[in-house]
Amino acid sequence: MTPRIPFPGPTLVLLAAAVAATAGAEPLPTRAVPVASYDIRVRLDAEAMRLFGEERIVWHNPSSDAVGELWFHLYLNAFRNSESTFFRESRGRFRGGRVGEDGWGGIDVTAIRRADGVDLAAATSFEHPDDDNGADRTVLRVRLPEPVPPGDRVALDVTFEARLPGFLIRTGHARDYVLAGQWFPKLGVYEPAGMRGRASGGWNCHQFHALSEFYADFGHYRVEITLPARFVVGATGRRVARRDNLDGTTTHVFEQTDVHDFAWAADPRFLEIRRTFVAREEVSPVEYEDTARMLGRPHEEVRLDDVEIVLLLQPAHAPQAERLIAAAMAALKWYGLWYGKYPYATLTVVDPAPGAGGSGGMEYPTFITGGTLFVFNRWPLDRLPWPEEVIVHEAGHNYWQGMVASNEFEEPWLDEGFTTYSTGRVMTRVYGPWVFQALGLRLGRLEGWRVENRADRILGPIRRSALNVTSDHNLAVYTRAALALQTLERLVGEDTMARVMRTYHERWRFRHPRSEDFYEVASEVSGRDLDGFFEEAIESPGFLDYEVASVRTERRAPPRGILEDGAVATASAPADDDEDAPGDEGSWRSAVRVRRRGEIVLPVEVELRFEGAPSERRHWDGRDRWVEYEVTGPHPLTAAIVDPDERLVLDVNRLNNSRRVRPDGRTAAYWGARWTFWLQVALSFVGL
Ligand SMILES: [Zn+2]
Repeated sequence: MTPRIPFPGPTLVLLAAAVAATAGAEPLPTRAVPVASYDIRVRLDAEAMRLFGEERIVWHNPSSDAVGELWFHLYLNAFRNSESTFFRESRGRFRGGRVGEDGWGGIDVTAIRRADGVDLAAATSFEHPDDDNGADRTVLRVRLPEPVPPGDRVALDVTFEARLPGFLIRTGHARDYVLAGQWFPKLGVYEPAGMRGRASGGWNCHQFHALSEFYADFGHYRVEITLPARFVVGATGRRVARRDNLDGTTTHVFEQTDVHDFAWAADPRFLEIRRTFVAREEVSPVEYEDTARMLGRPHEEVRLDDVEIVLLLQPAHAPQAERLIAAAMAALKWYGLWYGKYPYATLTVVDPAPGAGGSGGMEYPTFITGGTLFVFNRWPLDRLPWPEEVIVHEAGHNYWQGMVASNEFEEPWLDEGFTTYSTGRVMTRVYGPWVFQALGLRLGRLEGWRVENRADRILGPIRRSALNVTSDHNLAVYTRAALALQTLERLVGEDTMARVMRTYHERWRFRHPRSEDFYEVASEVSGRDLDGFFEEAIESPGFLDYEVASVRTERRAPPRGILEDGAVATASAPADDDEDAPGDEGSWRSAVRVRRRGEIVLPVEVELRFEGAPSERRHWDGRDRWVEYEVTGPHPLTAAIVDPDERLVLDVNRLNNSRRVRPDGRTAAYWGARWTFWLQVALSFVGL
């Protein structure tokens, strides 16, 4: 058992774990604890679009349990036939792709041995831990002859044959464009008791579902890819060797450490464009200074390293090359400054072939796929930064899930929500707050998210698993999660939020957090108990909607009847000019009723505006269904606004947040809000 994979002894592992667990404003961890490492040789038969592979897998038992079995993902079997759980859930349609009768994929393990030669083939079985689908072959369990003792390791040699699906749903091929993702037998995660709240130790290895993604341990990858010489190839990590073989094939060798997955792409038509992100040219001293001050970190902690960007572009999109490179540079710069430097030497950006859009907008460690179209080459669409946004988003996943490796099956908001929120920050910083600007219309990014967040679409909480998908899944884990983080930012302040995100990243880089770990960091760094916020905004089903239900103001009539001094007063109409006279003390009585229409309860401010006097604020805890404020004073009420600073952007309807008292005594919403409302209506018709 002497793999070529560098492997630290148990002392280094324990040391790294101890460093990672230290609290406070900790330095960025520089290395992951290697748990699952892969040394793979794979050959592509480009005629049949089949892969023939051999892998040496070394698994280090990170727990204090003796572990007697290994669980593997065989993701490609999701595309094996119409009986897979993926197919049943998606009905064969997903990400614009459609499973075709001639395009089935799949993977077979043809041999599996312990590295000392002990054959394990008879000790394998397919499992379906998530459902009762005995026909699903996406999870393989392997029983070992002896358990792996705590802190020890085991090495396995696995031979496999895979058929790349002839369509692209994250992975597959379209003619000779290949996107190989989840293409090799890959270990699940062994979680000891206590990890992510587990009661007892066990493998976390879900089947492949319609919307679920990935979860794996960090390690070292070395992958040799052999394929016909005409292909241009890109992959996770750095190319360390390339050799032409006598049979007309070329072997490309890629290597990367501290990652938990490996993907590659090949296409004879790719234009390969390389640029270096040179940190000292891209980041000014003032930007370093500002970042260090905002985050409360020493200068050396916010310094970035150089990164090579490899863009594999379709020739039809050649005019967009510089745009796409610039977007990747922006992502490396701002994510690096805010969350911590990008720790890898390369970032590879793949532009899917025309018709292979189902492989676009995907993320793997150091390797992402974009999503652009020919129409973005030219005016007027060349001015819309949508292709840039895809790259900034996917590059963001290198932080949220690539490095901070949450469980995408069980808590997808931790990767998609965090990435959507982070993408918004980078895009706003570099490209401005507008996602659409034409014909005098402007649609802000935040506004776009709010348009999507409609009460009638919401079925459940933001924190949810990706295993049982409902129609509001993407709304919850992308948009509403981003709105919740934006709400949090507005409640704690931008700088505090930046420190929350930084600390969360530092503490959980190269580890596996769950939601509670983020909650804890947020409360600790902000110095506020935010459990109530997360309980309502993230964990609770339902929606957030505050409304100013009614506003009233009326001149208080002089007292009538038998008064204190025994005199009898009768009603008399006030003179016309009294309206404009300075009011007597206590001559106006105003009332405002604020209602909570949704289930989500968050404290909120209510602003009361008066004519000729400063506004007043009231604080409402929001617990009851409504609250009424009565004010008697010398000035008439002109308007009432709930959440006047627009902190609670998770609120589903801004239209009802304000009402004013019109001169004729009736009430009306502000026109600004009404305009937004009609825009919402219009956009919902066009299906944005
Ligand atoms: Zn995403």
